[in-house]
Parts: sequence; C-alpha cells; structure tokens
Amino acid sequence: MKSMIAIAVGMVSLASSFAAQSAQEVNIYSYRQSFLIDPVVAQFEKDTGINVNVVFAKKGLAERLKREGKYTKADIVLTTDISRLMELKDKELVAAVNSSVIESNVPAHLRDPQDEWFALTTRVRNIYASKARVGDVAITYEDLASDKFKGKICTRSGKHPYTVALVASMIAHHGEKETVTWLTKVKDNLARKPQGNDRGQIKAIAAGQCDISLGNSYYFGKMLTDDKQKATAKAVNILFPNQQNRGSHINVSGMALTKHAPNKAAAIKLMEYLTGDLAQGIYAKVNMEYPVKPSVEKSSLVASWGEFKADKLPMSDIAKHRKQALQLLDRVKFDL
Ligand code: FE
Repeated sequence: MKSMIAIAVGMVSLASSFAAQSAQEVNIYSYRQSFLIDPVVAQFEKDTGINVNVVFAKKGLAERLKREGKYTKADIVLTTDISRLMELKDKELVAAVNSSVIESNVPAHLRDPQDEWFALTTRVRNIYASKARVGDVAITYEDLASDKFKGKICTRSGKHPYTVALVASMIAHHGEKETVTWLTKVKDNLARKPQGNDRGQIKAIAAGQCDISLGNSYYFGKMLTDDKQKATAKAVNILFPNQQNRGSHINVSGMALTKHAPNKAAAIKLMEYLTGDLAQGIYAKVNMEYPVKPSVEKSSLVASWGEFKADKLPMSDIAKHRKQALQLLDRVKFDL
C-alpha cells in the first residue's frame, strides 16, 4: 500500500512536471499587426510546445511597460520602426541578449551595438511617382525640395515614425541647418496638409491630387497583390531614391527583450526563431519586406523591383537624431 502511494505520488509529480513544461509561455507586446505575427507564432508553438500570447497595440506600449515595472508579463516587444526600439532603450525598458544564433542571422549594422534591440526586417522609404505625370526617373530625397514639385507632393504626418526616421537620416547626412532648409521647401511643395497613411498617398496620386509621395516598399507590394487596390497602385512607379550617391533610406521592424521578462529563456528561443529561415521567409512572403537574414529570398514581386543601393548609415545613427528630427518638424510646422 505504502509503495502504491509512493508510485502514485511519483506519478503526480511527473504529471505536474509535464504540466509545468507544457505551460511554458512567452508574452509579446506587439506594434506589428496580427496577420503578420500569427503564422510565425503558430509555427513556433507547434515546433516548441511553448505557448505564445500577444497583446497588440498601435501605441503606448513603452508607457505600459514602464507602468508595469517588474510586474510586467511581457517578455518581448515587437516594433515597426527604429524610433520605438530606441524609445524602449532610452527608457531602460529592455535588456541585452547574447545569442550567437541572432548574431549570425542579423548583420551588425541592423542590431544595437549593446545587443538591446535587433532588426527583423528592412524596408525602403521609397518615392512613388505618377506614371503619367512624372514617369520612371532618377530621383533623390533632396529633389523633393525642388521648385519643379511645387504643389505636387503628398505625405503622411511629420510626427509619424517613418517620417521622423527619414528626417533624422537627413540630419545625419547634411546637418541641422541644411535639413531645416530642405524641410521648409518640401513643406512648401505639399499639395495638401500631411494626412493619411502610406497607401493613402498612392491613392491620392492615382486620383490626381498630387504627383509624388513617400511610402514604405511593402505597402506597394501589398497593394499590387490586393484585387481592390491593384489598379490604384498601377498608377505609380516605385522609385529607389539616391541611387547615384548614398543609396535609399531604409528603416527596420525589430524586437527587444524586456528588462523584467518573466520567461527569459523561452523568449530568447522565440527571438532566435524570428531571425531564422522560416520566420524570415514568412516576413518576406506575407508582408513583402526585405528579410534581415542575407540568405533568405525576397518575395518574387519585391525581387522584380530590382536590386538597389541601400543607405548604409547605421540604424543607431538614425536613432541618435530622432529627437532633433521631431523638433525640426515642429519648428517648420510641417503638419500645419
Ligand atoms: Fe507600416
């Protein structure tokens, strides 16, 4: 009888250790949309048995992490741009990750020098031009200040991280004074007040409201593969700016481990997974982004736009000028 009880107890503890194992989890705070994260997460859960929970938000995740402090459930933050990665780092909400897997998958200029954030994908800040009224021309970001585009440019808000990152890169390359002059002229060239999202600017070109806009590369791919938006997208050419000099400005989506991650080991496993072939392939195919892992192929549509020269300015240099960029955008009253 005694031995029976011992066996029963043994089975219970075995069962509970299985329960503990199957209850392994990782919690993500994500600025990225669910349609993109879901297929990667589902495959990771299948491969590892680790459960992944995701909280999606458009903004405020840094504030939330700060408020939660050491009681947070979040292990990983996924962002859509360098500004938000830097915000997490500046507010000391993230921790360094030392992983040889991530290091070999993500090139050095696409990760934080202190390993506190890592890019997962890159995207180009393209210029879109009306096929009918501008054509397929060589163009630079500096050209957007030219008189020939007076009243012809559409853009989203100057407060949006994509705009802020581009302006930060202009400061890094040209200095503050020249950037203010450029920005003032670009503002003078606007066809309408900054508004809407990247796709909205392409729609405005198709509707004849303007001739030129700025937008991330993947939106063009997504419009071309959407039956309802295809015709609109076909009204423009995707141009890769500054090919004759420094190359096109790129931005990144990325990830960071939270400072108080309660499931650190499992979280690092997922972070490594996100830089691997399978996840990188999904990012490339589902969202038409450029994978950071060099050996992973682009989608065939993205590849059809051709090779291009990317600005090699390190992400950390863009991030360094982020606050200054915001101040300049305010100073020239870009959105007003
Ligand atoms: Fe986006």
